[in-house]
Amino acid sequence: MLACELLVFDFDGVIIDGMEEYWWSARRAALSLCPEAVLPESIPEGFRALRPWIHHGWEMVLIAALFSDSRGSLLTGGVDGAIRDYNAFCAEGLSRFGWTPTLLQERLEQVRREAVLTDRAGWLAMHRPYPGVPERLASLDDDDVSWAVLTTKGKAFTAELLASMGLTPARLDGRESGPKPDVLLSHSRDWHLRGFVEDRKATLETVRRTAGLERLPCFLASWGYLKPEDSTSLPDGVMLLSPEAFAGPLATWN
Ligand SMILES: [Mg+2]
Repeated sequence: MLACELLVFDFDGVIIDGMEEYWWSARRAALSLCPEAVLPESIPEGFRALRPWIHHGWEMVLIAALFSDSRGSLLTGGVDGAIRDYNAFCAEGLSRFGWTPTLLQERLEQVRREAVLTDRAGWLAMHRPYPGVPERLASLDDDDVSWAVLTTKGKAFTAELLASMGLTPARLDGRESGPKPDVLLSHSRDWHLRGFVEDRKATLETVRRTAGLERLPCFLASWGYLKPEDSTSLPDGVMLLSPEAFAGPLATWN
C-alpha cells in the first residue's frame, strides 16, 4: 500500500553540521586507544578537508589518530595523498595500528554515550543545525509529504539530536538498519518516495544504480560536506539542491 509520500534525508551534512563534535569525539576515541598520541584540541584543517571523504564514523577515529605527532603526518602523503586514494589510505591506517572498523566504531559510540550521559547539553551544543533546515523540515506538512532520516550515524544519537531540535521524522534509520539503498528499497514498499537528499555524491550514484531505485529523484545538498568537484557533472537523476530551492515548495526543487 502506497499510503503516503515520503522524502528521505541524510543527517550529517544535510540537517546538521557536527564538525566540532566529530573532532571532539574522534579525538577522545583515538586517545583512549592510543594514550601516547599528541592531538590538538582545535580541529586540524586537514580533518575538515577530509570530511567529505568520510563515510562511516570509525574513519574519523582513524584519521584523528593519524594526526598524532608520533605517527607522522597522515601516513606518507599528507591530506593530498589521503584524498588521492582514500580507501587505500584507510586500509593502510588500520594496518598501521592493527585496528578494525568495528573496534573504532564501538569506541566512538562509547565516547558519545558517555558524553550524552555526563553532559548532554554540552554534547548537543557541539552540533549546529544548518540555518533554516529544521524549520523547513517542520513545514513539509504543508507540502503534504512526510519525511524520514537515513544516516550512517547511530540511531540513538541521531534521535537525541532530532529531539533537541523538536523534530520527529516519520522514520529514523541509523547505521544499524544497513546500507542506505537497502533501506530506501524497503521504504519504497510502504511509501511513495518523493526524493532522497544527501551530501555524499557517491551514495546518490549508488542509489541510482540500485535496481528498483533508478527513478528515485536524488538531491545533492549544496550546503553539506561536498568535495570540490562534486557539484559539477552530476549524473542523470541527481540534482544539486541549494538552500534557496530547499526553502521553496517541493514541486520546484528540480
Ligand atoms: Mg552526509
